[in-house]
Amino acid sequence: MSTATELGRQTTTAPGAPLGLLAELTHRCPLQCPYCSNPLNLERAHDELSTEAWCDVLAQAAELGVLQLHLSGGEPTARRDLPQIIERAASLGLYSNLITAAVLLSRERLEDFAARGLDHVQISIQDSDAANADRIAHYAGGHAKKLEVARWTKALNLPLTLNAPIHRHNIASLPDIIKLALDLGAERLEVAHVQYYGWALRNRQALMPTREQVLASAELIAEARARLKGVLIIDFVVPDYYARRPKPCMGGWGRGIITITPSGRVLPCHAAQTIDGLAFENVRDRSLREIWSKSPAFQAFRGTAWMREPCRSCEFRELDWGGCRCQAFAVTGAAANADPACDKSGFHAAFTQLARTESGRPAEAFTFRRPGPDRRVG
Ligand code: SF4
Ligand code: SF4
Repeated sequence: MSTATELGRQTTTAPGAPLGLLAELTHRCPLQCPYCSNPLNLERAHDELSTEAWCDVLAQAAELGVLQLHLSGGEPTARRDLPQIIERAASLGLYSNLITAAVLLSRERLEDFAARGLDHVQISIQDSDAANADRIAHYAGGHAKKLEVARWTKALNLPLTLNAPIHRHNIASLPDIIKLALDLGAERLEVAHVQYYGWALRNRQALMPTREQVLASAELIAEARARLKGVLIIDFVVPDYYARRPKPCMGGWGRGIITITPSGRVLPCHAAQTIDGLAFENVRDRSLREIWSKSPAFQAFRGTAWMREPCRSCEFRELDWGGCRCQAFAVTGAAANADPACDKSGFHAAFTQLARTESGRPAEAFTFRRPGPDRRVG
């Protein structure tokens, strides 16, 4: 096929139905993970959508074709109306996944969520070692509470995923993190090397592992996957800074996922607000269907027509969609450039060198979301 013919096939602006909705119910969170993907300018509680507004948004999402609802944050259990939101999702036939740090939950509340139709629980952990986990989250007693909630989840017969963001402060614990997932009876473990947006970008030097550590972690995961086949599903997200090809970020801009912020802004990905020049519409002002199909921010990088070289003529352009727009903007200054994680990008060599340089220096102190002493459970 000629290049001209290929370019004639470039996809443009007709979206299918989104599969998933990431509902950031609140940016409030008692933890302070230094890799948090929330924006540096956190949205305030008084700006959050009401219960009625969220329930209406869920109905619009279901009508649009969304099947999976991820209840996220911040910490979604900080919302007192979470039971009503879960019940509404269940009545609409949405598969609901609670993405939680777990420290605010009681057994009674979790039972109530289950009774109202919650389908799945995903608990984030900072490490398998309690002291180090609490240091990373800046929250004393948090790890022990997470393990308790994980056991309640299993006792209620809810499927459990453990999510473990990986960086230089916990990468050595990977074998024990896998063992912890097995001990807790989790069906799935997500081992996700930190992606450097939001607070993670602010703390990049403090978090960046060495290339050797990353390669060793990949080998370890490959071995564990083979050994635990049929017992534990392990998802593995490699860090972009040591990759040769980018990930198909969000499965492509505006292709399958909608994110809604606590105040109702609708985003193609949770980090999209870091890109200058894009205006994001709000569910308070326009229907979700219209925003999904017509809003300029969703159209900006949908399909392939927006691409520059080397993506424009690349054979992988409908596989990885040029990688991550936010990372392209943050590192190259233009969101329409190829993701610098790609070795066809002119920025790739400097990008990987930066990771080697930062990981080679002693880790700086974390910058936390709130200054001050550790918070406590109870
Ligand atoms: S990453 Fe940590 S600080 Fe951010 S919302 Fe999740 S638990 Fe809270
Ligand atoms: S050039 Fe663009 S489309 Fe091709 S592999 Fe790199 S990022 Fe992906």
